[in-house]
This record gives sequence, structure tokens and C-alpha cells, in this order.
Amino acid sequence: MDLNFSAEDELFRLQVRDYFKNDYPKDIIAKVSAGKSMVKADYQRSEQALAKKGWLAVNWPKEHGGPGWSVVQRYIFDEELEIAGALNVIPMGLLYFGPVLYTFGSEAQRERWLPGILNSTTFWAQGYSEPGAGSDLASLTCRADRQGDEYCINGSKIWTSYAHFADWIFCLVRTDPASTRHDGISFICVDIRSPGVEVIPIRSIDGEHHLNRVEFNNVRVPIENRIGDEGKGWHYAQYLLGHERTSYAHVGARKAELALIKNAARTAGVGGSSLLKDPLFASKLARTEIAVKTLEYTTLRILSATQVGAAPGNESSILKILATECAQAVSTLMLELAGADGLTEKAVSLPLSERQGLSGAMCTEKYLFDRAQTIYGGTTEIQKNVIAKQVLGLRS
Ligand SMILES: Cc1cc2nc3c(=O)[nH]c(=O)nc-3n(C[C@H](O)[C@H](O)[C@H](O)COP(=O)(O)OP(=O)(O)OC[C@H]3O[C@@H](n4cnc5c(N)ncnc54)[C@H](O)[C@@H]3O)c2cc1C
Repeated sequence: MDLNFSAEDELFRLQVRDYFKNDYPKDIIAKVSAGKSMVKADYQRSEQALAKKGWLAVNWPKEHGGPGWSVVQRYIFDEELEIAGALNVIPMGLLYFGPVLYTFGSEAQRERWLPGILNSTTFWAQGYSEPGAGSDLASLTCRADRQGDEYCINGSKIWTSYAHFADWIFCLVRTDPASTRHDGISFICVDIRSPGVEVIPIRSIDGEHHLNRVEFNNVRVPIENRIGDEGKGWHYAQYLLGHERTSYAHVGARKAELALIKNAARTAGVGGSSLLKDPLFASKLARTEIAVKTLEYTTLRILSATQVGAAPGNESSILKILATECAQAVSTLMLELAGADGLTEKAVSLPLSERQGLSGAMCTEKYLFDRAQTIYGGTTEIQKNVIAKQVLGLRS
């Protein structure tokens, strides 16, 4: 097995690096690396800059507006974007819903919704979880009753990331009131400004507003907003989750964070000595670096088993666990490094190339938000169940 990138891939890497150094909005890189809160306009400007270059929908096949890259090119692009400190895209439209739309949507639905995602004028939210249905998603109760050419939707969705930025929300709803599990569920797109939709903010442990509760009170939606067949929404939802779980790798971000940690550790010991010579810290750092390397190879292995635009299989659950535990290991190390300075804005690492250094508060916020990584997209326990049953074929 050759683990090196080809000469063409390395050339591609240089082109991507050059783009982020010279042509991507510099103020956004500055804002990301200073750990500032991002507003919708930041995401839109970043995504529209990428769209102008033809580099926004990087996971879509060429016929639907993707750049037609190989999986290795896509991997290199994602890595360079994060090493440069550019802003990741909001995934709901581009990474999750887009592939469902071009795979299962009608021609009319593709014409209606793909362009807005491709030029970042339309933002989407994901309405899966409910107050009483998270891990056991098939027990969801939000219902859509058919009334002539419309559905009437009633119920609640919760933990809906970026619903306050969204124009549309794709929802899993129960269209067969007699059903109890997977079969009576449909996948329906709702204009979030429809009468009867209310978006209620939830502030998370890092003090930021990423999350929301979305209430549906007699919301009328035309039947042409349903993706695919009525009652078959579970199938489309699972296809989407394969894409979602593969999107958590963020190898570039982990490498950039490790570089900042090492940079800071050189002078963070007692009296300005190097923490890299402290056997306890050095051993934790080595473990974390090995975890990031393992993540890198696992990501490449899982991506190479997938064609661009095709559905990642249940192996994406392996990647989800590895990626999210790796992110938590890195942010735990960051917090240890910051120590008591984690309660302040004090700098704990120096700037590194284009990026700013870390402040104590950034380490703490990141540590706190990263607790959610092993929950969203399906908890680690649920991923282990998927691996046991679907990948290893074990019986419960
Ligand atoms: C930051 C964040 C963003 C999110 N964004 C979105 C979003 O945009 N859209 C959306 O729809 N949802 C979103 N979610 C919701 C997320 O998908 C759910 O939180 C997750 O699926 C877990 O569901 P729950 O919170 O109801 O926990 P529960 O399902 O109640 O689980 C509680 C605990 O029990 C364990 N458990 C449950 N069942 C089993 C089992 N069978 N075997 C072993 N252990 C089990 C779980 O692992 C967990 O530890 C988000 C969540 C977070 C934290």
C-alpha cells in the first residue's frame, strides 16, 4: 500500500494553499483564528467566495455542480481549508441535504433547491431530533396529516443547529398516524418562514447560540415539498446520516491545533521551561498525535471506499467515533495547557504562520463545546451499536 500522495495531488495541494493564502477573505481567517462568534453574513461571504471559485459543493458530482474532484483531492481541500484557518461550511445544505436532493429528489425539486445551496443564498436546517426522540429517532411523533394537496404539520424539533440562519428545514415527520416505527415516516421540506413555525433559541454550554427548538403549529406545506415516496423517509434519512458521519473528520483542524499546542508547550512549563520535556505531558501529546494520524488514515481508507457523490456505508460510524474522540482529546490537551489561564483572555500560545495563537478562553470554550461532538450525529453508544450490528453482523 502506498500511503504517499501522488505528484499531481501534491501540486493540487499547492494550488489550494495558494488560493487560501491569496484569494480567500483574510478578515474571515482572522475572525476564525481569534475564536470570534460567526454570524450568518460570515458564512455566506465565505461560501460565496468558494462558490465563485467553483469549490463550494466539493462532495457533489460534477453533473450537479461539484468540481469533479477525486476523493483524495477532496480530502486535501478539506485539510488545507482548516490548516489555513478558513471557515467550514454550514453542513446541512451542502453536505447533508444536497446529496439526498440530487439522489432522491424530483427534477422540479432539484431545479428549485440545488441552485440556492450551490450559490449559498439558501440555508437549510436539519429537523430530525425531538424532545422525546433522539437516539431512538424512529419513535418520533411530529406528524404531518394529509389534507388535500397539503400536509398539516404539528410537533416539535429540538437541538436544531443554525435554524436561526435557515430559510428551509428538512424534517422527518410521521405521515401514517397508525405507524409506530420506521415505516410511516416521510422526509418533508418546510419553508421556515411559514405561518405556524417558531424558532426558539437554546444557548449551549460555551455561551454561544448554535442551537434551537423549532415548533410546528398547524403548518401547511404543499405535498410537492416531500422528497421521494410517502412513508419512505427513513431510507433517505439513513442515506443522509452516512454523509453526515463522514463529515466529522476535520483532520486539518486537528493538525493545526496540535501545532498550536506544541508551539505553546515550548515555554509553558515552570519558569518558562518546555512542557515538551515533561514526561507526563509529552506522553499525552504523543498519544494525541497518534490518534490524529490514525484518524487521517481511517478517513482516507473510508473515503477511498466511496466514489464522490456515493453514499458512505455504515463504516462511517467508525470514523464518527474516532473523529469526535480525537477532537475531544485535542481540546482536553488545550485546556490542560491553558490551566488557570483558561478563565481569562490571556494568550497561551503565540501566533503560528497566518493564524493567531490561542487564548485561555478559546481553549475553555472549545473544550466545553467539544463535549457535544460524541452526542450529535448519533451518540458514540449508538455508533457502536451500528458497528456491531451492521458492520460486524453481530446479533443483539
Ligand atoms: C450540539 C448539538 C447539535 C445538534 N444538532 C442537531 C441538528 O441540527 N438536528 C437534529 O435533528 N439534531 C441535532 N442534535 C441532536 C442529536 O442528534 C441528539 O442529541 C442525539 O441523537 C442524542 O439524542 P438525545 O439527546 O435525545 O439523547 P438520548 O437518546 O436520550 O440518549 C441519552 C444517553 O443514552 C444513551 N443511549 C440511548 N439509547 C441507547 C442504546 N440503544 N444503547 C446504548 N446507549 C443508549 C445515549 O448514548 C446517551 O448517552 C444536536 C445535538 C447537539 C448536542
